[in-house]
Amino acid sequence: MVGEPLIRIRDLRKRFGAHEVLKGVSLDVHAGEVVSVIGASGSGKSTFLRCVNVLERPNGGTMDFEGFHFDYEEGARRQPTPAQLRDLRARIGMVFQSYNLWPHLTVLENVVEAPIRVKGERPAEAREKAEALLARIGLAEKRHAYPSKLSGGQQQRVAIVRALAMQPRLMLFDEVTSALDPELVGEVLGLMASLAGEGMTMLLVTHEIGFAREVSNRVIFFDQGVIAEDGSPGDVLRQPSSERLKQFLRRVL
Ligand code: ADP
Ligand code: MG
Repeated sequence: MVGEPLIRIRDLRKRFGAHEVLKGVSLDVHAGEVVSVIGASGSGKSTFLRCVNVLERPNGGTMDFEGFHFDYEEGARRQPTPAQLRDLRARIGMVFQSYNLWPHLTVLENVVEAPIRVKGERPAEAREKAEALLARIGLAEKRHAYPSKLSGGQQQRVAIVRALAMQPRLMLFDEVTSALDPELVGEVLGLMASLAGEGMTMLLVTHEIGFAREVSNRVIFFDQGVIAEDGSPGDVLRQPSSERLKQFLRRVL
């Protein structure tokens, strides 16, 4: 791809105690790209996503994103400040495997919370936008319901819409369909596919190889804390070069 990437990550490292989980990960993602991350359990995929929005603080490497330059080397002076982290997380949306909506807030309250509290949007304006987003996913009539009254698929779609309400520049998805009953997976993948079609930049960890193949521009194979393969879905999924990726694909396909 040409031009400046939206996000540029170089040599990112993360360890927990003596266990080095990310061993130097470098990745550029350009605006509009949809990048699927695949790899065995424990290979560091979630840790990587959590490092991107600094839910985990890396131990080394750099990240550039929308004018931020973070340097995580020990002793570096460009560690993110609390204000930068708030700003960063307002621009990077994240959705997890467990749809962690706030149980004590209604669907609508869940969606307007961050735009009002973090971005200072006027409540009426936030509410209008939230209602439009909920209508888009067919859940307008559930806006006053509590999350426990929704199916898993509905909750996960609300979680996605809640992130979208912040108008993020980048969306991170970590196995967002893994906890769903099989019949509910499709509605969540469908929403993600439509976001991809609208040009949303997405970095997603998924075991849905069919989705990775059809929706993403790029597939990355994580293996033991490094990016072992990175290429088009056709190359990575149909002509894997490493034996370890072949083994992985045999297990999940
Ligand atoms: P994946 O998402 O690919 O399954 P993870 O990033 O969740 O992998 O985990 C990679 C490794 O890091 C695992 O060995 C896991 O046990 C370890 N790990 C993840 N988070 C922590 C943590 N907070 N403390 C200690 N070890 C962790
Ligand atoms: Mg994970």
